[in-house]
Amino acid sequence: MGQYCPKCFSDSLSFPTSAIVHVVINGVRMDTGRILFRPGEKDDIFKKDLKTKIKEFFSWYGSLQNKTPIKTVKVFSNDYKCPNRCSIRDANLSVVNDLVTPNELMGLLQTVAQNYDVSLDISLKDLI
Ligand SMILES: [Zn+2]
Repeated sequence: MGQYCPKCFSDSLSFPTSAIVHVVINGVRMDTGRILFRPGEKDDIFKKDLKTKIKEFFSWYGSLQNKTPIKTVKVFSNDYKCPNRCSIRDANLSVVNDLVTPNELMGLLQTVAQNYDVSLDISLKDLI
């Protein structure tokens, strides 16, 4: 995996048999902004679920009167396990690079944003 333990810097983090991935856009966490990820599932299932969550958010956000461009998109999990048993339950570790590449995430955002009258003010490095 691409993620490091923030405490011991181990790069051998893993997920248990299922993990919750959170999607927070412009600091807003929707009630439905969670994806159940099962390691070993086919690669594109997570990306499909992620696109659905982005659609849900943008369809709501696009209908607001005073909306500002999207500046932050965080896709993270607190279910990573460190092999050294560090407590990282509240570390909000990004799954970008592990489950989706920054380019793929940017592509999803751009595609969906066009459909819902949402503008993006975000660069690849903001996604990691
Ligand atoms: Zn650790």
